[in-house]
Amino acid sequence: MRTTIAPELLQDPNIQASEEILRTCVHCGFCNATCPTYLLTGNELEGPRGRIYLIKSLLEGQIDPELHTVEHIDNCLGCLACETTCPSGVTYSHLLEEARPRLEQQIRRPLIDRLLRTLLTHLLPYPGRFRLAMRLAGLGRLFKFLTPPSLRHLLDMAPPHLPPPARLARPGIIPAQGQRRARMALLTGCAQQVVGPQINDATVRLLTRLGVEVVIPPQMGCCGALTFHMGERRHSLELMRNNINVWHAELQGDGLDAIVLNTSGCGTAVKEYDHIFRHDPDLSAKAAAVTALVRDISEVVADLGLGKADHATPLRIAYHDACSLQHGQKVTAPPRQLLKEAGFELIEIPEAHICCGSAGTYNLLKPDAAAALLQRKSTHIAQTKAQAVAAGNIGCIEQIARGIDLPIVHTVELLDWATGGPQPTQLTT
Ligand code: SF4
Ligand code: SF4
Repeated sequence: MRTTIAPELLQDPNIQASEEILRTCVHCGFCNATCPTYLLTGNELEGPRGRIYLIKSLLEGQIDPELHTVEHIDNCLGCLACETTCPSGVTYSHLLEEARPRLEQQIRRPLIDRLLRTLLTHLLPYPGRFRLAMRLAGLGRLFKFLTPPSLRHLLDMAPPHLPPPARLARPGIIPAQGQRRARMALLTGCAQQVVGPQINDATVRLLTRLGVEVVIPPQMGCCGALTFHMGERRHSLELMRNNINVWHAELQGDGLDAIVLNTSGCGTAVKEYDHIFRHDPDLSAKAAAVTALVRDISEVVADLGLGKADHATPLRIAYHDACSLQHGQKVTAPPRQLLKEAGFELIEIPEAHICCGSAGTYNLLKPDAAAALLQRKSTHIAQTKAQAVAAGNIGCIEQIARGIDLPIVHTVELLDWATGGPQPTQLTT
């Protein structure tokens, strides 16, 4: 695609990088076929090709950044199905990540939208605040009629009961069972610590059973992904810097064989730390060292070997590919292979490449589109006649649980069960 971006703008290395990406797009439109928002609307501007053209036109100054144009960018889930489909290798994610913060500075959102975004920025990355907010949301449901209509869905999304905090996955060092084979840091996520702490406990049990010493550094915090994908930068980069420094210190200290993530939404962002900080003279080398160690839990367990796995009931499991895992990290085989090794009957969900509508904060910011995608996903899951669903990302788990009558668990909970851990409570009722 030809571009005519003003030379003074191209002095900015980020805009220069965007121009290079724009030039790789040949405008074929193959990506539209797998784009969830294009499938829902049939609108060219609601597909990747249209969005790429929009970003190009904004950079060239052919159109002004206004709310109604930026909305097409806002409506993008960031699911990256388009990247998987694109035959020309267009790195749409990098284009989007450059465009969002720039547009955020150029437009003025309506007050309620600004309030919601500020609230999410200061709430989601902090498990303590998030837990309190979830409790207050339960109370708030009683006074729902007093809440602005555009915020009522937030109250509905809060789970009715919160599980107790994790018993094992707490800051510190958890020794390997038997002889130590490896030493790995575990990122426990922020929302996951509150709504899915049993996932972290299952991960610790599984890894330590396989001979891994697990490190959860006390200073480690949110990976920054949720706010980063909203176009917020100051706060997100601060969170990322903190983790890079914490993990790098651990690497330089007692050493690390891997940094393990069991929240694939976070994993995709952390695997990009080297790209995000590539122009930062103080952090680029550290970020590269950290990024080189980042693995999804399924990749790590596949490498270690699951070992004896005959403890679980051999249920029929429909495996849901989180977009962050299948499109963001291109990890599709290890979870499937491990579930089969663990004795489960694996069933594929039709249209597996399409997002469930969770997409970080998307279901909070765009509830109608998220609900339409959930409906689509739930219908496909119902067709599988599975006994339970497995997924590798807490966002998908929480979203899909609202649309199906089946239990849904994290893949690692099933692997832990199969190798001697407790049966996941969702499967016992
Ligand atoms: S498939 Fe790739 S090259 Fe074709 S329009 Fe989409 S992004 Fe551009
Ligand atoms: S990231 Fe997903 S929603 Fe956004 S343009 Fe690509 S396929 Fe469509």
